[in-house]
This record gives sequence, C-alpha cells and structure tokens, in this order.
Amino acid sequence: MSQLRLDPLTGRWVTIAAERATRPADFAPRRLAVETGPDRPCPFCPGHEEDTPPALETYGHDGSWLVRVVPNLYPAFSGSGRLEVTRIGPVFEQAPGNGIHEVLVLTPRHDVGWADLGDKEAGLVMAAVRDRLEEHGRQSAVRYTQTIVNHGREAGASLEHPHGQLLGIPFVPGELLDELDGFARFARTAAAGSGIGALADVEGGADAEGGADDVGACLLCQVVELERDAGHRVVLDTGTVLVICPFWSGSPYEMLVVPVGHERHLARATPADLVATGRALRDALTRLQQLVGDVAYNVVFHTAPHHDDARFHWHVHIVPRITSYAGFEQGTGVRINIVAPESAAAQLRAP
Ligand SMILES: [Zn+2]
Ligand SMILES: [Zn+2]
Ligand SMILES: [Zn+2]
Repeated sequence: MSQLRLDPLTGRWVTIAAERATRPADFAPRRLAVETGPDRPCPFCPGHEEDTPPALETYGHDGSWLVRVVPNLYPAFSGSGRLEVTRIGPVFEQAPGNGIHEVLVLTPRHDVGWADLGDKEAGLVMAAVRDRLEEHGRQSAVRYTQTIVNHGREAGASLEHPHGQLLGIPFVPGELLDELDGFARFARTAAAGSGIGALADVEGGADAEGGADDVGACLLCQVVELERDAGHRVVLDTGTVLVICPFWSGSPYEMLVVPVGHERHLARATPADLVATGRALRDALTRLQQLVGDVAYNVVFHTAPHHDDARFHWHVHIVPRITSYAGFEQGTGVRINIVAPESAAAQLRAP
C-alpha cells in the first residue's frame, strides 16, 4: 500500500510507492525498471494473458481482443477508502494511497504506438477510456482519474508494448486544480469584460461556477474559436476535433487536442466525438513522428473531476520529451521553449 504525503511548501500531494523493490543501481541511466527479453516475455502480448491479473474489460470480436484493460500488477494506488488525512504534528500530513491503478493495452501488436493504431483500434481505445472513467466515477471515494500514455523510456514507459494507464485517486490533484482555476478565472474575466453572453450567464445564473449551458464563458470553446480564426497554430481540424500548438506552449511541438463539442467530462462525450478524438490523436502523433522521428512523448487526458460540476472542457495534451526539464524549470515552474508554437504548427502541418 502506498502512502500520500503533503508537501507543505506547495500544498501538493506526493505518493510514496516503495513497494516495487528498487535498488540504487536500478536508477542507472537508460535502464528500464521492467525489461523484457527471451526469458521474460511481454505480458501484454496475445498468448500471455495469464501473466497479468484477469482483464477488467476486453474489446474486440471473434474471441480475440484488440484493446484490454487489466489491473496494474504494481499499483501506485489501491484500496477503496476515502482520503483519510492523519496529521503528525504541526507540519507532517499523510494519508493512505487509496485508489485504482489500471493498465490499458492499446493493441495486440507489440512494436507500434498510438500513431500506428487503425481507425477501429483508435475508437476502441477511447471507448475503453470512457467506460473505465464511468466505472471509476461510480466509486464515491475516487475524486479524479488521470489517464495517460507514456511512449518511450524518456517518457517513463517501462514496457515497450503500447499501453496506457488509468489512475483513480482520492483527491483532485494540483495540476487539475490549477486548470479548474484557469476556467473559473476566464469566466470571471469574460463576465467583467465585453462578453455579453457570458455576463448574462454569470449574473443571471444561480451558479457563477457554471451551468451546463455556459459555453459562452468556456475558456477552451473560446480558444477553439480564436485559433480557427487565426489558423497559424492549427495542426489539424477535423471539424469535430481541433489540434493546435497552444499559444502558451511550454515545450517544442507540444500539442493540445480539443474536441469542439463542449463537454466537461470525457465519460459524457458522444461516441462520435470520442472516436474522432482517438483518430485525431493518432494523426497528430503520426505527424510528430514524421517530423522529428520516434521521440518519446506523454499523452495526458484531462477531464473534470468525478462528482463535480465546475467549469471545464475535457482535452488531451501531447507533450514530446525532446528537451529536458532542467534547473530553471524545476526552480521556477517557468518553462523555456526553444521552438515557437507558430513555427511548430507550420512544421507539423507540412506534409
Ligand atoms: Zn508485447
Ligand atoms: Zn467548452
Ligand atoms: Zn489540461
């Protein structure tokens, strides 16, 4: 069982997951925590289903699976309790690392990535993410679920076989709180400024925190409109999904994938929007690969916290691991990006 500890300097939770026995030598550069080889076959390949805990869900037909969800063998979060914080004196606070940790095997094919998924697989992966988020949302102790795909060792992947992870945790994490603040701040600014629709929404609304129809004051709906008008940071526009290099990109070739239809929760998105997002992600990653080669990257899904109706618009970040997060970034949280997003988008758009 892992443990949560509160960093009193930042107010953010840290997870101590010391269960997977790690020796100092395991941190040597370029070494994987979990290697596969002839003596250790890939547990995510077809034929090795017995090497993982029994599947929670499988997707496919004719007895063979295309997408598979299994519990993580080394969960960073496990247990069904709520966030039960224990104070140890005036500074130290801890809580059990309750939650859910699942692995999403993206395809039966070992040597590919999201960029190589077929139309059907890309859709099924998104259906699987939706289904798991829905399931996590049924558990009152799970406050937020982070869905990620790490590709390549520099991005943290410990197994080559393309897979993602779903981590259901008993608190809303700092990064999400910051983004939720961003949506709320934009709505307030819009209300105070010239946006008449937004003003009416906020003043007339019993809920300054947002109702279901507050598209006019949604930060990302506004971004979609402005970026479509401007055009030069757009990588792809399928009509249903917009992929941009955001104005505020902190790293080279960073992309933001925004389903155009306003929806807070990924789990409530329409099947058509989910399929379109899976394919747009695939196409964006293919362009990235064509441009810079097989780089490591993180795909980070952001959706509104469970049991929560705050302002939000679900979206996906693609963060290529091209440059390192060095001392200045570590010290300040201020990133230095050596490729302007306008130029990154132009390069990613080019055939
Ligand atoms: Zn494999
Ligand atoms: Zn929106
Ligand atoms: Zn986000």
